[in-house]
Amino acid sequence: MKLTGDFHTHTTYTHGTSTIEENVKQAENLGLKNIAITEHSYNSCYHINHGDLDKMRKDIDAIKDKYKIKILLGIEANLISRNGDLDIDDSELDKLDLVIVGFHKFTKVKFKEWLFFVLPNLIRKRPSKKQIERNTKAYLNCIKKHRVNILAHLQYGGCYVDCEKIAKECVKRNIYIELNGKRINFSKIEIDKMVKTGVKFIINSDAHDIYSVGKNHRAFNLIEKYKIPLEQIANLDKIPDFK
Ligand SMILES: [Zn+2]
Ligand SMILES: [Zn+2]
Repeated sequence: MKLTGDFHTHTTYTHGTSTIEENVKQAENLGLKNIAITEHSYNSCYHINHGDLDKMRKDIDAIKDKYKIKILLGIEANLISRNGDLDIDDSELDKLDLVIVGFHKFTKVKFKEWLFFVLPNLIRKRPSKKQIERNTKAYLNCIKKHRVNILAHLQYGGCYVDCEKIAKECVKRNIYIELNGKRINFSKIEIDKMVKTGVKFIINSDAHDIYSVGKNHRAFNLIEKYKIPLEQIANLDKIPDFK
């Protein structure tokens, strides 16, 4: 059982402490075959600026022949509305190697969306049924409208969803559900329901420094504890497909 890639890492382009090359070097030293650089999108509190994706692509092109590992450029886009809108244009997503989508509490959104979508997730420890339905719908709207490859840290940050419903839609669209190296909040029941849909999971570190690249103890513990079938993990002994 070997991890083939880490598809969610941050750098000094936002609030990470390592450069693209440092992440790449670290991943190669760990024996990974793939590394993705996936910075926070435009509305995050720590965000890239317009033009940064082109700069990052140039940075990657400048070092790619120095290393054996494949370097992918992606984004961690923010879910910013109940309609499933993202804080980056589809035309920009098309130029990337992979697209991660996540909900983050401290993201710039329109006031109405803050009031009816973000705020309930901020204040309620135990989500209401209506809130879960609303959050689930936001994700479903998003994956029906935009190119998405990975859903990051579901159930984290107060945005509780119906995991089974989302997993069923992910199966149809070949979208991976992330087992985040740091942020995991799935119950055994939720994992069991998702496994039954046949959805594929992906293990990612969400590293913000070189020492965290490729480090996924929490995800591996969960896989063992809840007995997630290894063939349903996209980056164990196989390479995920981000078309
Ligand atoms: Zn995130
Ligand atoms: Zn992240």
